[in-house]
Amino acid sequence: MHGSTVPDLRSKNSQNSLSSGGAKRMTVSSVLVVGGGITGCVAAIALAQRGTEVVLVERSPQWFGVGHGITVQGNALKVFRDIGVLDPILEKGRGFDQVRMRLADGTDLANIDVARTGGADLPATMGALRSDIQNVLVAKIRELGVEVRLATELVGFETVDDRVRAELSDGRTEFYDVVVAADGIKSATRRQLGMPEDKQPSGMGIWRAVVGRTPEMSVSGLYYGGPAYKVGFTPISDELCYAYVLTEPERPDNGLSDAAEMRRLLDGYGGDVPHIRDQITEDTFLNFQPIEWLLVKGSWHRGRVIAIGDAVHACPPLIAQGAAQCAEDALLLADHLTREGDMEKLLTEFEERRRPRVELVVQASLQLVEWEVSPTPDADPGGVMERSLKALAEPA
Ligand SMILES: Cc1cc2nc3c(=O)[nH]c(=O)nc-3n(C[C@H](O)[C@H](O)[C@H](O)COP(=O)(O)OP(=O)(O)OC[C@H]3O[C@@H](n4cnc5c(N)ncnc54)[C@H](O)[C@@H]3O)c2cc1C
Repeated sequence: MHGSTVPDLRSKNSQNSLSSGGAKRMTVSSVLVVGGGITGCVAAIALAQRGTEVVLVERSPQWFGVGHGITVQGNALKVFRDIGVLDPILEKGRGFDQVRMRLADGTDLANIDVARTGGADLPATMGALRSDIQNVLVAKIRELGVEVRLATELVGFETVDDRVRAELSDGRTEFYDVVVAADGIKSATRRQLGMPEDKQPSGMGIWRAVVGRTPEMSVSGLYYGGPAYKVGFTPISDELCYAYVLTEPERPDNGLSDAAEMRRLLDGYGGDVPHIRDQITEDTFLNFQPIEWLLVKGSWHRGRVIAIGDAVHACPPLIAQGAAQCAEDALLLADHLTREGDMEKLLTEFEERRRPRVELVVQASLQLVEWEVSPTPDADPGGVMERSLKALAEPA
């Protein structure tokens, strides 16, 4: 599979660089992006659009059709608009502006208008299939002529003067101006860079399924106070929703199939939940996983290698900001890398801009987890979500 995906159009990218930037010297002209999730894809697109030669390596042999539903907030949509992929993503997904909070029996608690974190002209929230978003990003990467190598890993690196010597699993050793590690919460690059933090258990697990929805299930629904920590759904198209149950971090060894276990967890809920539960059969695509989190407190870079996205900050998905923070990282980093100036200063400035937002998201998400796991009378999940999203509506 090595190097088998797209023709190498590096010279075309270089010409773009000259034509868009004139005679201006660019600090960075070649970047290796490690990882083809949301972070790596957005970084590759934004860098290529700024005239940088980009090679993207992805460990997986294929990067289509990944995962489940996802709830993304307006600030992610804003990034998608900035890199020219919003329309096809919105066509596939479902935008909306409210979240309905209910008690487990279906009694209404509150209808909250979600802050439009991407600006007044974008929906507050969108539900979509992860694979639909990924496919649009991949199509853009192909269109821009980014060189993609699937089934390829970064195995070693060293900063040598103003360049990074990168050793790849396809046997190549290459030099780049910068390496962007977007290799996710299990990032090997983070460890190789000597960052001491590692992913932590949150104390919760999540069951997820994609099922049909009724017309009334047109905004996100959250159910509190039942046997599970929380049950929720997000509409992802006119017909479908992405449903989830937040529960204990260990899957019980109770002899039930996955479908039977998820149905069991949804028993005892009212409102829209019986409609979700009754559709879950042995053929439903669903999965369980413990939820983890991570926050790298110190610098995210060493020399010219920088880690971004879930590789340095990953939050439990309780305010659905993970993808948005990843996308914001990627776009802002592309902006900084294509400015003129001292690299150490540019990377430090980038981190200083990003840190307050990602810390806010991680801390708020952990607070929400704590209230689910150990309820207290002063718990105010709606207030925390509202305040966090209002703060994130300020420019990144
Ligand atoms: C259960 C769950 C539900 C979530 N729900 C939401 C939600 O509703 N809304 C939301 O906004 N966020 C949600 N998130 C968070 C969101 O999914 C993540 O923040 C985001 O997808 C992380 O993107 P990433 O590109 O940084 O990492 P990843 O998506 O993990 O991508 C990393 C990529 O790097 C590749 N890779 C790893 N190592 C190497 C290597 N050495 N060389 C080459 N490639 C490598 C991997 O194969 C992978 O493709 C959820 C997370 C979880 C776990």
